[in-house]
Amino acid sequence: MLSNINELIALPDNGIKMPVLFIGHGSPMNALEDNLFTRGWKNVAKEIPLPKVILFISAHWLTRGTYVSGVQHPNTIHDFGGFPKALFDVQYPAPGFPELANEIITLYEGNVKLDQEWGLDHGVWSVAKPMYPNANVPCLQLSIDYSRPGEYHYTLAKRLRILRNKGVLIIGSGNMVHNLGMVAFDKINEIGFGFDWALDINETFKRNILEGNHVSLQKYESIHSASKKAIPTPDHYFPLLYSLALQDKNEKVELFNDYAVGGSLTMTSVKIGG
Ligand code: ZN
Repeated sequence: MLSNINELIALPDNGIKMPVLFIGHGSPMNALEDNLFTRGWKNVAKEIPLPKVILFISAHWLTRGTYVSGVQHPNTIHDFGGFPKALFDVQYPAPGFPELANEIITLYEGNVKLDQEWGLDHGVWSVAKPMYPNANVPCLQLSIDYSRPGEYHYTLAKRLRILRNKGVLIIGSGNMVHNLGMVAFDKINEIGFGFDWALDINETFKRNILEGNHVSLQKYESIHSASKKAIPTPDHYFPLLYSLALQDKNEKVELFNDYAVGGSLTMTSVKIGG
């Protein structure tokens, strides 16, 4: 069945290998702000070829089993509380891409199911809006099966590799270090402020990413003594594994937006290839 994806009518091979991104998305307010992080995202969008479609793996779509979103006109999901009305007013009307959703289901021989309700959560639009403000690039999402360990996600993601040659930009959207319960709100505006343990484990993540030690990164629970603090729940970490799994052997990997915020979050982002 794998041959089917090569015969995609909607997305033929275009001879360009799209890069893959992991983006530390942080606060949804980034959707409205012009700051260091959004400028980093905009710069990356300028550096890479204009994608035909973006496939997001967002920390904010957790499911049992894996789903791909197949709606033609995804709605903007405001999946948070306690933010200004202006953030709830944000709409990101990028179209969906049901044809690709169906091809992904074929690619996974039925192990990924079609979802016809999910729109775009803020792990998607808070990043996509600064990068592609005209909402002219179709977006769809692959959910995260939250009942599965790191190794499962890494292995599952490998099969998406073929989409890189078809103009599909794959973006994992989460945060490497993400502990909302420990955020130092009094220092939230101090870019770069990270607790010692957060900075230290982030260095470990970065070293392993740059050295290609993906096995260690899949076993994140034992990668560092601060693993439990940095990843109290793995929702924001798993998207990183999807992105790393798509790195070809010896392919270039770069870091950007490499800052901590609020003590217990890191915005460190990864660009693979390109
Ligand atoms: Zn988030």
